[in-house]
Amino acid sequence: MVSLPRVVIAATRSGDGKTTVAAGIMAALRARGLRVSPHKVGPDYIDPSYHAAACGVPGRNLDPWLAGEERMAPLLVHGARGADIAVIEGVMGLFDGAAGRGEFASTAHVARLARAPVVLVVGAAGTSRSIAATVHGFASWDPRVALAGVVFNQVSSDRHEAVLREALAPAGIPVLGALRREATLHTPSRHLGLIPAGERAASVRTWLPALRELVARDLDLDLLVRIARSAPDLAVGAWSAADVVAAADAGLPRPPGGLPWPRAGRRPRIAVAAGPAFTFGYAEHDELLAAAGADVVTFDPLAAESLPPGTDALVVGGGFPEVHVDQLAANAALRAEVRRRAAAGMPIVAECAGLLWLGATLNARSQCGLVPADARMTGRLTLGYREATALRDTPLLAAGTRVRAHEFHHTVSEPAHGDEPAWQLADGTRHGWAGPSMLASYLHLHWAGLPHAAARLARAAHAASAAEGQSPQAVACAARRSSPQARAASTLARGQQSEAAGNGRPAQSGATRRGPADATRREPPAPGLVVGHVTLVGAGPGSADLITLRGWQALRSADVVISDRLVDPELTAGLRPGVVLIDAGKKPGEHRLSQEDISAELVAQARAGHHVVRLKGGDPFVLGRGGEEVLACAEAGIPCSVVPGLSSATAAPALAGIPLTHRGVAQSFAVVSGHLPPGHPDSPVDWKILARSADTLVLLMAAANLTSIARHLIGLGRPPGTDVACIERAATARQRVSRCTLGDLAGSRSAPAISNPAVIVIGPTVSALLPRDEPPRSRG
Ligand code: SAH
Repeated sequence: MVSLPRVVIAATRSGDGKTTVAAGIMAALRARGLRVSPHKVGPDYIDPSYHAAACGVPGRNLDPWLAGEERMAPLLVHGARGADIAVIEGVMGLFDGAAGRGEFASTAHVARLARAPVVLVVGAAGTSRSIAATVHGFASWDPRVALAGVVFNQVSSDRHEAVLREALAPAGIPVLGALRREATLHTPSRHLGLIPAGERAASVRTWLPALRELVARDLDLDLLVRIARSAPDLAVGAWSAADVVAAADAGLPRPPGGLPWPRAGRRPRIAVAAGPAFTFGYAEHDELLAAAGADVVTFDPLAAESLPPGTDALVVGGGFPEVHVDQLAANAALRAEVRRRAAAGMPIVAECAGLLWLGATLNARSQCGLVPADARMTGRLTLGYREATALRDTPLLAAGTRVRAHEFHHTVSEPAHGDEPAWQLADGTRHGWAGPSMLASYLHLHWAGLPHAAARLARAAHAASAAEGQSPQAVACAARRSSPQARAASTLARGQQSEAAGNGRPAQSGATRRGPADATRREPPAPGLVVGHVTLVGAGPGSADLITLRGWQALRSADVVISDRLVDPELTAGLRPGVVLIDAGKKPGEHRLSQEDISAELVAQARAGHHVVRLKGGDPFVLGRGGEEVLACAEAGIPCSVVPGLSSATAAPALAGIPLTHRGVAQSFAVVSGHLPPGHPDSPVDWKILARSADTLVLLMAAANLTSIARHLIGLGRPPGTDVACIERAATARQRVSRCTLGDLAGSRSAPAISNPAVIVIGPTVSALLPRDEPPRSRG
């Protein structure tokens, strides 16, 4: 049996002043030296912040929909442990329940479950004697509800109060008092209700004492305490986080690898976003995590430059990120760290504001970029209880778990989900982002109603902290264990799917050109993480009109473009504003970025949720290192696709009027990389075979070794009179074609000076259409 004085502060409707009266009563009781336990019926996060300010302990919610009817009294007793009195603020009007479910989850419902007497706050503005009928109706509507007293609010004068009291006298319901309409008591509201106390701590510090004095003066607090003490003893035990976790632990499978649990040594550390932008949370969540063996540390994403030291998992709940969006966007260091840690598999659970912060943009300002969705404020409030089923395993819940949740927001985040939606809602729609290391959606949950959730998250954090502890080498080996070729193939297949799905994203403001990000370098793969994707696009050779339609479409939907020197600047001059253009350089001898760096940049940018287009001169798979880029994406689990271009090996000769085959002259051609001179120990080129045939030879990357190649070919049997065309800067306005013979190339004096990029064509087809002495056609 639990003896707990308790009272519910209800109202006839929203707007009667329930929160003001409740917070004032809490503060006044506290001022009398009582330990007051504050509670709120329903899912609301904001009113409890005022309760917490009034009582100096966390405000707690009692919501039968979220946490279950049977847990209302136990949660109340738990929250009120050690308190002298519990004050429970109702929600809306006394009998207003979950839409379509009668009075379920109403204040009256919770008052019954908690066996608590009810004090009714009645907004008296604009009414006098009629108040008696209103109160009579509320008192008699449901005989199971004990209406024990009335508070008149928004009373205009002593006379008004006297009329009200006189009218109600025959009803026999005690009046605790009347509060005047006071401008100073006004609590500022915003689109979701009151402004959370945590966002206006200074004004709350002056507001509360004034309210407290007013309530102490005008309400009969002795009567209130008597009403609270009239509540019968409760025949329930207190809800206990430790019991919940112990039961959940018994039911959960042992973590893979048989990790000891709880783990000897360091407790997993779970960082919870807090501060002015993230004010929403249920006190029981932290208690559950602590009971599950985790340390909970809070941090403020507006100000913290990094996650708290030793963070193993991240929880980002609700709040008002849209109000602080500039500050969130400006905290690039933290956003980058969250991206990096997410890519490395850190478990993340995000609700509502958390979803917005993890998204690509919020009101067009960059956010963390883990979830490829853009969010914006709308004029429409989305509010209501939801029923949903988890579609995937996440760090919080196993696939198939049914949950009761609520939604409470003015923003929309689009798209609502990706390939792996988190939830199937009761109405059939799908929503949210899920993977083995992440759950992010608009749904708010109460973990007291989900017995396994906290234990599961603590285990995920624990597993992540164990993985962190491994040597970097071990992680790298694990990443490489599966065949890269097999993974590259599946990566390409997935990339094609996502390409077909379309990648349009809204433009941001102002084009940016910048150097490579200092983000991730070869992190281990994070399976199931929401990532962007990479498209290798063949560009040119030369001008912007020589790109395929498919390549052009990819370029138009890109967030990030990584280009290099073979790509004519004309191609990247017309990118959408806001697209990040990274110049990989790759000038011979002075590479701005090594191939490793380029691959790492592709991976890092895609992991940040971007569509990354890698523009490659000619064709990604013709004498380019596109294959290595595809492998890097495969290793990181990032979808990647290839859009073929026009290979300079075939396009440049064609644009110069040189066929590669011609009836009776040559039936085949070979494309050869000349970046290593013949005889070089690293060169796998079989120059002997190339010299003996009459095939057309197309040399790429050969400008530096032309003399040596020509001498070699002649020495091995190619006639010195064989025609040669050197095509420089093919298809650009500065294209130059010079003609000579193999002998001219071999004798360094008569050889033309060739600069890169150039395509060298050797063979009889060079003069098949253009006789030897005719000047070649040239563009521009
Ligand atoms: N993957 C590319 C080749 C890249 S290797 C393709 O399929 O075309 C780079 C070489 O391509 C250069 O050294 C040069 O030989 C050739 N090349 C690319 N663009 C060129 C251009 N605009 N004009 C002449 N040669 C070009």
